[in-house]
Amino acid sequence: MTDSSDAPTPPEGIPDRVVAELNELTPDELRNTIIHAQELLQFQEESSSPIEPGPGEDIIRVTEHEGYTEVVKQYSCTEGCDDCPHGPYLYHVREEPRPEGGTHFHWTFLGKVVSDEE
Ligand SMILES: [Zn+2]
Repeated sequence: MTDSSDAPTPPEGIPDRVVAELNELTPDELRNTIIHAQELLQFQEESSSPIEPGPGEDIIRVTEHEGYTEVVKQYSCTEGCDDCPHGPYLYHVREEPRPEGGTHFHWTFLGKVVSDEE
């Protein structure tokens, strides 16, 4: 480990091994780690807020159907690229029971939406 007297103190709740790993990362690796962590967080939070847009996401349209919800989302990269925004993409979201009880929301990716009119 490097001399960490100037390094920020990590907040409580981060495993020591993760802190040690983070200290070894380059700025690029740290950025990618943040992006991945956001994706993981979003994935884990899907059950609590199925239709909430994540970082860089725009909800274009939400249509309730019997048994499922149709969601159209588009994304922008964190850094932004020539193709931004990406999509819009169509998803069907279904609430499904978990084997251990409760429910979760299952997102099915159906493909890119071709906008007919704006
Ligand atoms: Zn992009």
